[in-house]
Amino acid sequence: MTSLTALSIASELFPLIKTGGLADVAGALPTALRAHDVAVTSLLPGYPAVLGGIEDPRQVHDFHDLFGGTARLLSARCGELDLLVLDAPHLYVRPGNPYLGPDGKDWPDNGLRFAALAQVGARIGQGLLPHYAPDVLHAHDWQTGLLPAYLKYSGRPGPKTVFTIHNLAFQGRFPYELLAKLGLPQRAFSLDGIEYYGGIGYLKAGLQLADRITTVSPTYAAEIQGSEAGMGLDGLLRLRGGRLSGILNGIDTDVWNPANDALIAATYDVESIAARARNKKALQARFGLKPEPGALLYGVISRLSWQKGLDLLLEALPQLAGGGAQLALLGAGDAELEQAYGAAARKYPGQIGAVIGYDEALAHQIQAGADALLVPSRFEPCGLTQLCALRYGAVPVVARVGGLADTVVDANEMATATGVATGVQFAPVTTDALIKAFGKTRALFADVVAWRNLQINGMTTDVSWKNPAQHYAKLYRDLVAER
Ligand code: ADP
Repeated sequence: MTSLTALSIASELFPLIKTGGLADVAGALPTALRAHDVAVTSLLPGYPAVLGGIEDPRQVHDFHDLFGGTARLLSARCGELDLLVLDAPHLYVRPGNPYLGPDGKDWPDNGLRFAALAQVGARIGQGLLPHYAPDVLHAHDWQTGLLPAYLKYSGRPGPKTVFTIHNLAFQGRFPYELLAKLGLPQRAFSLDGIEYYGGIGYLKAGLQLADRITTVSPTYAAEIQGSEAGMGLDGLLRLRGGRLSGILNGIDTDVWNPANDALIAATYDVESIAARARNKKALQARFGLKPEPGALLYGVISRLSWQKGLDLLLEALPQLAGGGAQLALLGAGDAELEQAYGAAARKYPGQIGAVIGYDEALAHQIQAGADALLVPSRFEPCGLTQLCALRYGAVPVVARVGGLADTVVDANEMATATGVATGVQFAPVTTDALIKAFGKTRALFADVVAWRNLQINGMTTDVSWKNPAQHYAKLYRDLVAER
């Protein structure tokens, strides 16, 4: 096996900065690829949390003027990860969320902030740094969508590119007027370039110009080529269908390991699932729920948004509570949903609990203590919480869409008879179907042996990065062979 080098470019990376699953992928895939002789360096913006969290920073390049200010490129490390950090204070040194200002709205200069990241990624690919020539550039989501455009319109040769869609809903659309500031030629503004519905589309540019497109599950790869999930880009995705594939995400099985998780009340493994009872008790206490060991306790860990279907769950709460179940919900996002779940907790004291906010430790405690984990998403490119749930023996109850369909084996008659079921799927994604799923889950939970089998099957499912990394390594090698 020949060794390969890849530069991964993403706007977030766990554990330095995270708003969602993208950070988990960007933080875990490089380590998993090492086993396949692929050496990955990760380029990311120098937000305050990143500059404060890196080790051994060393300047390797300086820019006199990068989109309106001076900037530096730092080589650094974070644990086992090799990093290049784009330290451009005028673009990235701001409080809070990487994308939103304190008013909750997009930073007005997001177009420039992420064009800079993409442009620097392309330039590194083309030899900006002496002694570093990556074989492949792997760009993630709209924030890096212009990267293949910078390569193409520079007129200079560069490495092959992979562009991964983590969520087609975030498209990075900007007005035509931005073009003058991007350092791209006028001819880039065309149907086969960065033009998108009269403006500039960063995600569209990536889909149009990358050598390969991947997304994070086979089912989502198929769904987005249709008009319902294609969000205006299905035509382009069909056109490029031969270059598009779905590779499931994994999770970091060291971070998510119930056998030695320091964040939970009691550790356990597949041989000692009964020890979960202590975690359930602790979770009930944390959420102010009645300490009933026999009550079916659902967990939710989610952004609170339309995508995640949590308005449907809200409508189904009377049935959930009426059936004697409990709910522990951790989430942040839409103000309306935040308030509604707060109100639901007050309406059903002892039965429904909600913590509004982002809390990594509590996410672990829910996975370890909940009997079932609910993911009622309207669409879900891959979804990570159901993978963690499988590993922790929380039975996933999920909408049959995207990566949820690919990773949870529904407890239908056939799967139950052959002993491969790991959870419950429901379709279509409606309140009624969700309520029916509550009934099915309740029946399974009442059957102690059936439930234990679901847990065992889930906990012994390989949700690590091992398989996915193999697919990415093959993709990189195929691309390099094409050169
Ligand atoms: P998305 O990227 O669409 O938000 P994913 O399921 O792919 O959804 O990834 C979400 C990640 O963020 C998971 O690792 C999940 O545990 C974590 N997460 C989501 N909301 C919270 C929260 N409120 N507190 C802690 N972790 C959260």
